[in-house]
Amino acid sequence: MTMQAYIDEAEKNLLHTYNRYQVVFEKGDGVYLYDMEGTKYLDFVSGIAVFALGYHNQEYNDALKEQIDKIIHTSNYYYNLPAIEAAKKLKEISGMDRVFFTNSGAEAIEGAIKTARKYAYLKDGTTDHEIIAMHHSFHGRTMGALSVTGNPHYREAFEPMIGNIRFANLNDYESVLSQVTDKTCAILFETVQGEGGIYPATEEFMRKVRALCDERDILLMLDEIQCGMGRTGTMYAWQRFGVKPDVMTTAKALGCGVPVGAFLMTERVGANSLAAGDHGTTYGGNPLACAAVCKVIELFEKENVLANVERVGAYLAGRLEELVAEFDCVTERRGVGLLQGLVFDRPVGDIIKRAMDKGLVLINAGTDIIRFVPPLIITEKHVDDMTAVLRACIREIEGEQK
Ligand SMILES: *Cc1c(COP(=O)(O)O)cnc(C)c1O
Repeated sequence: MTMQAYIDEAEKNLLHTYNRYQVVFEKGDGVYLYDMEGTKYLDFVSGIAVFALGYHNQEYNDALKEQIDKIIHTSNYYYNLPAIEAAKKLKEISGMDRVFFTNSGAEAIEGAIKTARKYAYLKDGTTDHEIIAMHHSFHGRTMGALSVTGNPHYREAFEPMIGNIRFANLNDYESVLSQVTDKTCAILFETVQGEGGIYPATEEFMRKVRALCDERDILLMLDEIQCGMGRTGTMYAWQRFGVKPDVMTTAKALGCGVPVGAFLMTERVGANSLAAGDHGTTYGGNPLACAAVCKVIELFEKENVLANVERVGAYLAGRLEELVAEFDCVTERRGVGLLQGLVFDRPVGDIIKRAMDKGLVLINAGTDIIRFVPPLIITEKHVDDMTAVLRACIREIEGEQK
């Protein structure tokens, strides 16, 4: 069968929830993907900030194979060695105290919401507490996660959402303050908004919200699902500011491809929120997923991933700034480390398609922004190769416009 025949087959059977690019990827190696016809692509998406270590990392692959031969799944009613080890390692890199493993990012957000509600319920015995989330945020597609996602377009057809959610603006402390009531139990935001357009929280905003939370006994909940796991140069983005959350979510690169996420909290919140019987999951933190988490954290250290992100992230930002200076249609660069966005004065779909045709995988964040979330092991050379192709694509569209 040809690649097109496989795509047609897929379109006959899968639910049409994605407008997919017309390509079937078959394998990967480092920062390169190969489609089933053998065409090679430079990948600046890494499965949307997931495959941080690059494809086909032999040590990672071997660790998974070894775990498969031992045991893939038990149940959270029993202990298993990979989960014990993964929780310990995750605590070390996050500085948090208590871990609950999930299967996805959205499920981690659900857990965080339940944690906040239970924490507030135990304080006053009432159940109408409120959570403040941010406009332009993205927290996932399940009903709870959607309820705190500040994008009306994603929510409209699925109303009513879970209740008592208020929205404020990231980096606008006054807007947060204006939404606080006696019922506020949590303030939730992404330390760097990903999907919403690569907007980093400022240190000033983080510090003020932290102080507000301390004063009113409100939980600060940070979504580090996309910006965490080394992507901004520290294991978690909030560590750059030294503003510690009470509850934190992580997923995406946590298992580097094996579906796994987690929500974490401080000892104080752990002791005053979810208890036995309050929450559960069949698969969450199973031995295979946790073997992946253990190996990922180990390889981050061994391969000096954070230092690479600092160096190559700064280099990428510099090259993107050159494009801002060079082209009228490129208006701004935003981002931290290897989570960067390039803002255009028009929709970027056409540019991304052209890049794909030239063997470069890119993705958008919103309609007008190209998002750069490559594997964290990329080098300056890969950045140069990427910018050369991107520059050619921008020249093409500017040429056609004249
Ligand atoms: C991707 C993402 C989610 C949702 O994660 P899933 O694994 O797709 O459910 C939540 N929050 C942020 C910031 C994300 O980037």
